[in-house]
Amino acid sequence: KISPIPLAVRTTCAYCGVGCGVQATPQADGGILIDGDPSHPANKGKLCVKGSALGDTLDLRGRLLHPQLRGDGGMRQASWDEALERVARGFGEIIAEHGPGAVALYVSGQLLTEDYYVANKLVKGYIGTANIDTNSRLCMSSSVAGHKRAFGADVVPGCYEDFDMADMVVLAGSNAAWCHPVLFQRIARLKERRPEVMVVVVDPRRTATCELADLHLPVRPGTDVWLFNGLLSYLAREGAMDAAYVGSRTTGMAAALAVANIDCADPMEVARVCRVEPAKLLAFYRAFAATGKVVTAYSQGVNQSSAGTDKVNSIINCHLATGRIGKPGMGPFSLTGQPNAMGGREVGGLANMLAAHMELDNQEHRELVQRFWNSPRIADKPGLKAVDLFHAVEQGKVKAVWIIGTNPMVSLPDANQVQRALEKCALVVVSDIMASTDTTAFADVLLPALGWGEKDGTVTNSERCISRQRAFLPAPGEARADWKIICQVAQRMGFDGFGFGAAHEIFDEHARLSSWRNGTGEGCVRRMFDLDGLAGLGAHGYDTLEPVQWPVRRGPTGAAEGTRRIECGGRFVPTAPRAPVHAASAEYPLALNTGRVRDQWHTMTRTGKAPRLAGHVAEAFVDLHPHDALLYGVREGELARVTSAWGSLVARVQHGGGITRGSVFVPIHWNGQTASDARVGALVSPAVDPVSGEPEFKHTPVRVEHF
Ligand code: SF4
Repeated sequence: KISPIPLAVRTTCAYCGVGCGVQATPQADGGILIDGDPSHPANKGKLCVKGSALGDTLDLRGRLLHPQLRGDGGMRQASWDEALERVARGFGEIIAEHGPGAVALYVSGQLLTEDYYVANKLVKGYIGTANIDTNSRLCMSSSVAGHKRAFGADVVPGCYEDFDMADMVVLAGSNAAWCHPVLFQRIARLKERRPEVMVVVVDPRRTATCELADLHLPVRPGTDVWLFNGLLSYLAREGAMDAAYVGSRTTGMAAALAVANIDCADPMEVARVCRVEPAKLLAFYRAFAATGKVVTAYSQGVNQSSAGTDKVNSIINCHLATGRIGKPGMGPFSLTGQPNAMGGREVGGLANMLAAHMELDNQEHRELVQRFWNSPRIADKPGLKAVDLFHAVEQGKVKAVWIIGTNPMVSLPDANQVQRALEKCALVVVSDIMASTDTTAFADVLLPALGWGEKDGTVTNSERCISRQRAFLPAPGEARADWKIICQVAQRMGFDGFGFGAAHEIFDEHARLSSWRNGTGEGCVRRMFDLDGLAGLGAHGYDTLEPVQWPVRRGPTGAAEGTRRIECGGRFVPTAPRAPVHAASAEYPLALNTGRVRDQWHTMTRTGKAPRLAGHVAEAFVDLHPHDALLYGVREGELARVTSAWGSLVARVQHGGGITRGSVFVPIHWNGQTASDARVGALVSPAVDPVSGEPEFKHTPVRVEHF
């Protein structure tokens, strides 16, 4: 008897925004073999350590398997009926008494697009508030705001192929070697193939990414706008602008240049402010001016700042000045942190967006969406962004919050404030795959959700590529898909429009909305985001959907055709440089920088299960310069207390060798469930960018002391 050959299921990785294709093959022993999907354009079969270890994270240890309700004696298991009723009734009563703005959803870049779509529809179209925000606020919202200011839409013009074709790659505020490893390997292969390609890394730390760098600019934290304004000024002075492109495809150049010239016209002064060697600064400027095919990729070092949106625009300004937008081998490129931060943006998962990249503050857009949904109302002003949302909860303005697939007790800045907020909140609902996290501890209702490998839907990666995530495991316990839980609550609240029977039906509505009245004819509203080619796929078409980059339109044969690059003009945005909100002081003399380590993800609820991933970095640490360690009386290998104005933690001192004096680095992953509470979020300043609302995770004044 021949045993059947196990069939591989093609899906996508659960982690970073590279969005690698994964093949998951069930094994006879019950395990799952994980391989890269050679046919996926994002990774062509390659996976990083985290992606390769996905199979080690699938066991049911610690999973939330049944709904739970808080009663007098603590949490108890409940039926779905009871739990859904409690959520629907609780939200309904608070809305009836205090209005729609008294409730909120806080969701996650881990959600699939279909989950995000129904959550956004419920809150903005039926409850009638825009109080739905996502943890993408913490990583990508400055890019969203920067794109919208420059291009009029949240669009990444380029694609991964540009990294194969570039003659110069600038990585600004990105430790891609650890945070986007498969894309970094792609740049490494480019460098191997063509050693003359110049790689420039702009980062206060000498990270693993610098191994590939021809030039490392260890800028003083928070000075990126000075650097790129200086570059804009240099390009203008040296006659390196693309005058034809600037004249015909852009607006606002003179104003942006005038602002750049105020503080940044003198490279020596820029070098002094950024604390980089003048010769290195000029080498960067000269190479950028002289090289046609330049990709400037940027990530959280740019976004997570109280000047994050201006940092993004200062980069885009330089690409607009040289006409290097959406052409082969060139362009600004936002590296997305999460697997579906982009998909969430597409359906309006941020408190200041609508659906299908439409705008809340645009009446035409609001009417269009409300008519399409046939919904009783539509939110007419932006809702509360993440940090403000939890302040409103603490102040009692928001009385019910539903947290889905995220752990704000660890990940938000000033995380102890989140605890105070959740303690005071009348109704805290948490949907999660794990039973015991720092956040689930404060839930009144716990709803078990499906996790990676169990759920079905779509995600969009950093290059606008929509891919399927497919289930290959049965639902554990009573866990349900997030979209289903949200629809069931909506129906119990008395709302129609949520009778979806399967994920493909939601995707179809999303695709139809994106193309509805999108064009140049009468009554149309012209929009860049368009999935017309993906409308009407049906169950089979959805199941067999191949990765495709939006906009997706129907080609001459009727087949769906994606778009590799978006060649567009844009608007220069004046970006006056400004320092981080909180400066170092005698009490808090060091600047805390936070970020990821190579083998962990977010708050470790998944990657913490894989022993092989703990081998790289086993515990939280505080990295500082040996001279600073001497000055503050701490020693490598010993414990130190790190304290800011908002909180403190204890971690082991290390000298990673890549940090400049005056800065310390602590990773974001460790949570309060481990022996020592190493939630770095508790220390982080709640200062946010005034445009995007993104917190300043890269610059909080702290002191370090012997523990
Ligand atoms: Fe997953 Fe990102 Fe690694 Fe690709 S690079 S396997 S998407 S974590």
